[in-house]
Amino acid sequence: MIVNEIILEVKNLTKKYQLPNEKFLTACNEISFQVEAGKTIGIVGESGSGKSTLVKMLMGMESVTAGEVYFRKQNILNLNKQALWKLRPQIQMVFQSPVASLHPKMKIIDIVTEPLFNYKRLKRSEKLAKAKELLAMVELSEEFLNRYPHSLSGGQCQRVSIARALALKPAILICDEATSALDVSVQKNIVDLLLKLQAEQKMSILFICHDLALVHSFAHKILVMEKGVLVDELSEGESLTESTEEYTQALVDSVFSLKEIKRNLQINNARK
Ligand code: ADP
Ligand code: MG
Repeated sequence: MIVNEIILEVKNLTKKYQLPNEKFLTACNEISFQVEAGKTIGIVGESGSGKSTLVKMLMGMESVTAGEVYFRKQNILNLNKQALWKLRPQIQMVFQSPVASLHPKMKIIDIVTEPLFNYKRLKRSEKLAKAKELLAMVELSEEFLNRYPHSLSGGQCQRVSIARALALKPAILICDEATSALDVSVQKNIVDLLLKLQAEQKMSILFICHDLALVHSFAHKILVMEKGVLVDELSEGESLTESTEEYTQALVDSVFSLKEIKRNLQINNARK
């Protein structure tokens, strides 16, 4: 069996938030998992289970209480500023709110090329061609280059966010509820786009989502979080109903009961 390179290894990662009353809230409790190069990990769990806190720690956006994070075998939690700056292009993120995560006063051409200028990887003279290439990558026409985020739909904004995140060719793309605010059909288009780009660029994807059924349709591995604890890990090919973990089953049941409700609604509407 060919084992892919372990691109990211998380060991006993813990985050305790200090609350005003001298108490702590353990948002992530000794979380450990590995990410293989080119694979997709889904992270599911209900709101407040610690998913965003986990990825914020991976991104260096939130301090770590305890534990270790290795990127290509290098511990990235005790890097100095300069080393962190060098690492940053390798792990990029797409956020939940499509419009709010794009600078309202910047044109799309400037948004998608900004990371490249920050890292001095682009000359002014190459800007237009590069922006066109990045938009084509996310299947947006050149017509969007000189527009501002507010004139785009949610799905189009997420395509721009993905183009910006991929401009630096990261090894890992983290999507934190990146499709949750979108309509179901648009959600599917964005997932299809991510999978196409993953195949082309061989990147790993960490896809955070509270929709277990959606994640299950494309992830190679699913981590289930409950109240800051990793309670279950499902491998590729494992059917959702096979898990013996109570919490996973509760999530599965809620997915199926939702489908049941929708089906009943459709039947009811058809009758009308
Ligand atoms: P999720 O992304 O799964 O919804 P979060 O990681 O956002 O969960 O939150 C996990 C827990 O940590 C929640 O109880 C939340 O209220 C708490 N939390 C998140 N950020 C902070 C913070 N800055 N200070 C205190 N508590 C926080
Ligand atoms: Mg969250």
